[in-house]
Amino acid sequence: MHEQSLINNLLDKIQRLAATEDGRLIAATLRLGVLAHISAEHLREHFEQATAGTSLEGLRLHIEEQPDIHHPEAQDIILDSLEFERADEC
Ligand SMILES: [Zn+2]
Repeated sequence: MHEQSLINNLLDKIQRLAATEDGRLIAATLRLGVLAHISAEHLREHFEQATAGTSLEGLRLHIEEQPDIHHPEAQDIILDSLEFERADEC
């Protein structure tokens, strides 16, 4: 799978989900399968490059590495959750 299109798909998904929420998006959590052919560090680099200058710049990224090669998501990068900061929590 091409890394850049994978990252772009992920960012599209994050932006679509963020648009349905009131709060400001502050963090995203990804689950990275051990067979996904990309390291967490490398994924983070691509993410930071891809979000630079966009509305997602500076978004905190948590990457949970999923180490089991027999796991059904072992080859995938899954968007696990998004964190929002709500105005009424300030
Ligand atoms: Zn790369």
